[in-house]
Amino acid sequence: MSAYQTILLVAAMEQESRPLKESLGFRPAATSSRFAVPFSRFETDLGGARLIMSLNGKDRRYGNENVGLEMAALNTYDAIHAYSPDLVINFGTAGAFKDKGAEVGRVFLSKDRFFFHDHRIPLSGYEDYGRGYLPGLDVEAFAQTLSLPTGIVSSGSSLDFTDRDLEEIHRNGATLKEMEAAGIAWSCYLTGTPFFAIKSVTNLVDKTVSSANEFEKNFSLAVESLTSTTRTVLEAIVRGELPGK
Ligand code: SAH
Repeated sequence: MSAYQTILLVAAMEQESRPLKESLGFRPAATSSRFAVPFSRFETDLGGARLIMSLNGKDRRYGNENVGLEMAALNTYDAIHAYSPDLVINFGTAGAFKDKGAEVGRVFLSKDRFFFHDHRIPLSGYEDYGRGYLPGLDVEAFAQTLSLPTGIVSSGSSLDFTDRDLEEIHRNGATLKEMEAAGIAWSCYLTGTPFFAIKSVTNLVDKTVSSANEFEKNFSLAVESLTSTTRTVLEAIVRGELPGK
């Protein structure tokens, strides 16, 4: 039996998560927040486990999806309180480096540390704190059994990047660059909840000029592979193939 009976899936964008929601038959889940928070929640059963999906939702002023670190951290923290999951998984898209073996549509599992690349605090005692070093579950062996590559995920608050960001991304040893994982890792670290991420590549940061154009062009392909890999990963977990903490 799986050590993980309640699994919380966190995603930033509705478009990233819709195919998985449909393919696993997620239905709306009851929420009981005192506040009018935008997070939208769904649940389903898979192989005897309870799956909760929690999306960051939309900004009521602009109508856009709540991408980014702050909303991902708040959504996760609130959902951990509501559902007490045994495991949190963030699934989504990311930019990545061809030099590190990435291709558009290739799906990676995270390594056991999460980083920020634009939290620069060059003061004694604050540098590593700014960089994150937030703990993640070591899923290396599990990834190997599923023939999936792993890579370090570095998070920031921008879709594009500056030269300084790039320097920090490299210093973090990252293969993947996105906008939520380290925020989610922070909520999981605070609450002692095991966490890892599944990231599908939308654009090759070292090969293309505009992340935004590539993101839009490759999004459907990336979501297709994200959906099938996330399903495979979840099915393996509920079969008990991911060892407990
Ligand atoms: N154009 C989109 C906005 C997406 S923002 C829209 O129409 O709504 C980017 C989202 O995709 C974030 O959730 C982020 O985690 C992820 N992402 C994908 N590729 C990325 C990259 N190269 N850099 C940063 N984030 C990326």
